[in-house]
Amino acid sequence: MNQATPSWRAELHALTQDWLQRIALAADLAGLRELEVASVGKKGDVTALMRRVGTLPPEERRDYGAAAGDVRTQVDQALADRKTALEQAILDAELADDTFDETVPGLLPKRGHPHPLSLVQAEIESVFSSMGFHVLDYPEVESEFDNFEALNIPSWHPARDMQDTFWLQDGHLLRTHTSSGQVRAMQTFAPPFRAVFPGKVYRYEATDASHEHTFHQVEGLLVDRHVSVAHLLDSMRTLLSAILKTDVTVRLRPGYFPFVEPGFELDIQCRVCGGKGCSVCKQSGWLELLPCGLVHPHVLRAGGLDPEEWQGWAFGLGLSRLVMMRFGVPDVRLLLSGDTRFLTQF
Ligand SMILES: [Zn+2]
Repeated sequence: MNQATPSWRAELHALTQDWLQRIALAADLAGLRELEVASVGKKGDVTALMRRVGTLPPEERRDYGAAAGDVRTQVDQALADRKTALEQAILDAELADDTFDETVPGLLPKRGHPHPLSLVQAEIESVFSSMGFHVLDYPEVESEFDNFEALNIPSWHPARDMQDTFWLQDGHLLRTHTSSGQVRAMQTFAPPFRAVFPGKVYRYEATDASHEHTFHQVEGLLVDRHVSVAHLLDSMRTLLSAILKTDVTVRLRPGYFPFVEPGFELDIQCRVCGGKGCSVCKQSGWLELLPCGLVHPHVLRAGGLDPEEWQGWAFGLGLSRLVMMRFGVPDVRLLLSGDTRFLTQF
């Protein structure tokens, strides 16, 4: 019997076409993996073909083996091709889905900014620097001498009752005013000189909308010959108009401070209420802004200066109050509250 075309050839051909078609139609990698197991896996249809070689007549076995091996090669190739195609499709889909747009501006990190007290203090320092003043930084923990004695406030003096003091165990204190730098400055600089010293001061007192236990002042001191009150007031006007950036209404009242003679209170019309009266100005329409005056001879002597030759003027500017007026802040306690709802407005 001459078998030109053994029956298994048609069977192998049909089986090959069937697998190639199913593999080409595999929808995803999981489906392809199932087809791989079912075809070339250990118990797969294509794998089984090789095992049938022993059932064939010996003269056909070589051809059959080659043909079965060819089936396996075609199916393996089809599986690899389909796998590559499916993976590429996944990658294409990911790239098409990706909404990243390099032209969209990024999210900026939150940045800090100067505290309103620092802003106004820097402006004041700038104004005074331009007028030839040194800007000095003196200790917050002070001696009783520099905070009281040297400023003509001996221990028996009733003026000490005006400033409730945080005393430290070693007899030092937290400065109750920046005036504590006056004698330090006189001992440092040869007259004539002019200086401002800004900083925190401390009072042992109850807090309300216009009082804090910790607040900020700027002390100003000028020592020269022939110093007058007119000179002082002119300097104050220059400062206040520069800082508040507007014409301000001020009034001068006699004021008693042991370290000046004569002494004054410079009041400024309340800018929160425009003079009508509010909680900040205690319904008066005015705010005490500046105690000031000509330096008392006793203070000059404590600083090693001869009052016959040298005079001076001094002021203590309430920086916290100035900031409140500048920005219309209704409660001094907001300044040191650390409340970001307040601070982020500046
Ligand atoms: Zn007011």
